[in-house]
Amino acid sequence: MRADHLGCYGYDKPTSPTIDALCEESAVFEKAIAHASSTLPSHASILTSLLPHHHGASWENRRALPENITTLPEVVRQAGYSAAAFTGGGQLDPIFGLTQGFDPYEVLPSDALGPTARRGLEWLDSLDGDPFLLFLHTYQVHHPYDPSPDALAVFEESYDGPFPDSISVETIKAINRTDQALPASDLAHVIATYDAEILEVDRVLAGFFAELKARDLWDSSLIVLTSDHGEEFGEHGFVGWHSHTLYEELLEVPLIIKFPGGQFAGRRVDRLVRGIDIAPTILKAIGSRVPPEFSGIDLTALWSGREVPPLLAVSRLDRVDQARVSSIRDERFKLLRPFSRRQRLFDLAEDPDELWDASGNHPLEVGRLLETFEEILATREAPSATEVDPSPELRRQLEALGYIQ
Ligand SMILES: [Zn+2]
Repeated sequence: MRADHLGCYGYDKPTSPTIDALCEESAVFEKAIAHASSTLPSHASILTSLLPHHHGASWENRRALPENITTLPEVVRQAGYSAAAFTGGGQLDPIFGLTQGFDPYEVLPSDALGPTARRGLEWLDSLDGDPFLLFLHTYQVHHPYDPSPDALAVFEESYDGPFPDSISVETIKAINRTDQALPASDLAHVIATYDAEILEVDRVLAGFFAELKARDLWDSSLIVLTSDHGEEFGEHGFVGWHSHTLYEELLEVPLIIKFPGGQFAGRRVDRLVRGIDIAPTILKAIGSRVPPEFSGIDLTALWSGREVPPLLAVSRLDRVDQARVSSIRDERFKLLRPFSRRQRLFDLAEDPDELWDASGNHPLEVGRLLETFEEILATREAPSATEVDPSPELRRQLEALGYIQ
């Protein structure tokens, strides 16, 4: 889910009434960066507070998260919490190692949030009041876009172009195979199906949040709503796709944290923050230790009055096993190291759409970011290889999600 399609991030269509209300009770991070534009490496960064370069989990490289890496659920369990995950599988299949610390870790047969949230509630009801970490994951805001007719009708009065109301992975692949730009009305239709999927997730969240309140869990709970990557709608040549570039439409994700007891409600944070900061923030908030190898920060430090140096966000394309397909950005500049061409620098203040290489105008920034990137990479050893061999069934599921070309 890209951040800019939510009302509380400035979107002008009604995708997210429930999430917008959650924002009112939360700290909202307006510039949160994912560490990859695909599911497995980005989730692994959230759960380990490590960069993809350091945890190694990657679908494209057929690598699982190594067993010796510490995960957020492992730490909270040591602090006396129960921890469960209910996921849509695919790149989060148990063979990729994100199961570490979760018990149970279940893969739901549907990619929709509804059944996943129901399983989460059943698990909560089995706990007998123990403190818990519940991780819910859905592919609903992900191609294929298959919204209900009534949700789609919220975003589209009529459409008589060539595409159906359900946008399959095959349709998206066909759109992206041609060199011609998609006509504006067809692009608007594809975006309407995406927005309708967000609304459907929002409706499920309304029910889920009501169930938490009915169990008297709302006020005391810390709730994080985020995403592992965005989606491209023609900004850099593709429609309805991700995992192929590191442009901001794929890396800027929502990050909304409701702290217990209404703390920090309504706070808007415009500084750059990262997926690796989520786990340390959760651990600090529950009074738990933060493992020294976690590389993010407790985000509440940003408004504690203490001086926090500007953060840098490093992301990696889930395509090759080298550091060279990576990006590093600060508040203004972003250095992209593509696979086959020389690096490019974007001045996001002057060129937020990332269209012009500004490296000629800012050679010092190129040098500074390259050097910092190498320094950050050198802070940890490269991860040990944990190769996996997906079963035929998992390969079929990943194909349906568009992850096998
Ligand atoms: Zn994903």
